[in-house]
Amino acid sequence: MSERSLPLLEPHDDALQKCVYCPKLSRAACPVSNVEGNETVTPWGKMSMAYFASRGDVPIDAMHAESAWACSGCYGCRERCDHKNEVAGVLYDARADYFSKGVAPEVSRKVASSFAQHQERFERGVDAIDPAGLKAARTVVLLGCSFVRRHPDEAKAIWRVAQHAADGEVRAARRCCGLPLLHAGDRDGLAAATRALADEIADAELVVAADSGCAKALKHDFPERTGFTAEVVPLIDLVYARLDRFPSQPTKAAPRYHDACQLGRGLGRYEEPRAVLAKVTGRVPEEFQRRRDAGECSGGGGLLPLTRPATSEAMADARIAEHRRLGGGSLVTTCAESLHRFRTRGEDAVGLWSLVAATLDEDQGDGG
Ligand code: SF4
Repeated sequence: MSERSLPLLEPHDDALQKCVYCPKLSRAACPVSNVEGNETVTPWGKMSMAYFASRGDVPIDAMHAESAWACSGCYGCRERCDHKNEVAGVLYDARADYFSKGVAPEVSRKVASSFAQHQERFERGVDAIDPAGLKAARTVVLLGCSFVRRHPDEAKAIWRVAQHAADGEVRAARRCCGLPLLHAGDRDGLAAATRALADEIADAELVVAADSGCAKALKHDFPERTGFTAEVVPLIDLVYARLDRFPSQPTKAAPRYHDACQLGRGLGRYEEPRAVLAKVTGRVPEEFQRRRDAGECSGGGGLLPLTRPATSEAMADARIAEHRRLGGGSLVTTCAESLHRFRTRGEDAVGLWSLVAATLDEDQGDGG
């Protein structure tokens, strides 16, 4: 039995101490502290607070817990860190400890308590996209709850693209993977959600995840936290491997690719989305100044839009301002949360899968 005040942090002692005694080399990498200009929410500040709380040096209360939610899970600091410290993962475990002690932010508790309704709405959305729900299909697609609920047209495009890329019949999973619960800190709820998804996909031969956040979590975050073990293939990998199945359809506006944190730093996919975008639009995408492993977060991840809305908005605004300063064009992303962030901040961003699906529609219209 751990004597730590935050027992889930015990395995992270080395990572915590490296941050606590660090001269803050990753400071400039954190988009949250860059916006807020506050030492408490630098990677060093957040890890120090978690470390002190785990040792019992500060009280376990809402005020001291709060900084664990001041992270979008972008992994920007990990890239700057000589130790490649996984700050976001440690903070997710701190969130779970705080949640179980009843001191998580109210919005997090609300995400957890309303998850059943979230699941019902998600299921209804999936039913509308895949009404047949072919039980015999051995390829299962995880459309992603953010796509289905916030961007149903992008979710329909994903469904179209997945059917075209896969061999044989496809069905869409009805269960949400539970990622919002990882971010909220509700570990019991997360375990139940991943069990339900594992049951649903147990007979699948291929499981494809469209949302890179789901894919990253299912591959790397959930196994050690929930026991989830199914092999999951990011949709971008499937499409990239079968790129010859997708025609080109030149676009008027020059596309500019925004690296999604989970697809880029999370899964290491930098070439694949650029290759898919170049193929379907017939042009090499424009870039942000900071890109690939240095790409900057849109502010959509880790529940940041709920826990720190003003910071999240400022992060999106900075990306949009840079996009416009560099000449504008069509801002393209693979990330559902980024799409939402950009659109709600006034930029008519485009989902990659809509561009890919449009080439298929065009091809069919031409009798292809
Ligand atoms: S993962 Fe991103 S948001 Fe979180 S502390 Fe590191 S740089 Fe900041």
